[in-house]
Amino acid sequence: MHSGPTKYAMAYVDWIKDDDRFSDILVQISPTTTGHAFPRLRVRYKSSLVQVEGGTSDLPLLDPNVRATPLAPFEWRERLQAMNKAGKPFSQEDALFLGRKSLLLDVRNGYEWDVGHFQGAERPNVDSFRNTTFGLSGQEEVASDPLALIDKENTDILMYCTGGIRCDVFSAILRQKGFRNLYTLSGGVSNYLKNEGPADWVGNLFVFDSRLSLPPSAYKPEAIAETSPKIIFEGSTFARCYLCGSELLVFRHRNCANIDCNFLFLSCKTCVDKFRGCCSLECKDAPRLRPVLPGHQRYQKWHLYRDGVLQSKSKV
Ligand SMILES: [Zn+2]
Ligand SMILES: [Zn+2]
Repeated sequence: MHSGPTKYAMAYVDWIKDDDRFSDILVQISPTTTGHAFPRLRVRYKSSLVQVEGGTSDLPLLDPNVRATPLAPFEWRERLQAMNKAGKPFSQEDALFLGRKSLLLDVRNGYEWDVGHFQGAERPNVDSFRNTTFGLSGQEEVASDPLALIDKENTDILMYCTGGIRCDVFSAILRQKGFRNLYTLSGGVSNYLKNEGPADWVGNLFVFDSRLSLPPSAYKPEAIAETSPKIIFEGSTFARCYLCGSELLVFRHRNCANIDCNFLFLSCKTCVDKFRGCCSLECKDAPRLRPVLPGHQRYQKWHLYRDGVLQSKSKV
């Protein structure tokens, strides 16, 4: 990932694409209104971009036969709309597309679903993708695993994530578990919003940088938000304050002010004041509290708070 003025970013893209190995690479561009999305350039070797339990080194990620079938954004939209027409909530239920059963699977983290997701996708019951057990569970976890009881041979699994990479890894895992019909949204949600606009999407897209979340209009400004009904389910965490359950208008996360917790959560303004920027009463009384973030931004590196600015209870 790279951020910079469009002109330089595009020059970089051209340079990459000049190399035959990368000539057909999918390039994704997303705007920022607050300066650099990645203010500090760091070049580091990472053996794997996606962290999963057990590591990715044993997964046949480069084997084309293992990959899920990528669907272009318009194909994805057609599939979703066909599922919608089947008239049922199409996550756990069987939905029909050309006579086939389909399951829509959000393979991101639960907190990402909380600010936006495809209509009908269930909230992943994991706080972190690396711990996900979908499709891998034993008998006892069946209730929380949407893949536990499905017909591996005859169900189409439609997976999506932010940029498509997590799906590539997850599809390799599912393939090894015997799931036959795997589909991914090519380029992920960011590519979808850019091409199709907010059709069948509810809310914003969580992003892993200082911008936290982006509305669909950031990807396709000319798309007029179709009457995408804001469906708030009873007991759902979508667009809700984690603390009081009130409905939120701004879909931006914050980290718990307790440096030893750091939980990423959604909070209304009242609860930010009441809980002192923390995620719970317990954290509010924790010994190592950072200052309350005034707006929707991230904390800086933890060591900046370690020496000095930490507001431990004893000092207050
Ligand atoms: Zn609240
Ligand atoms: Zn906390």
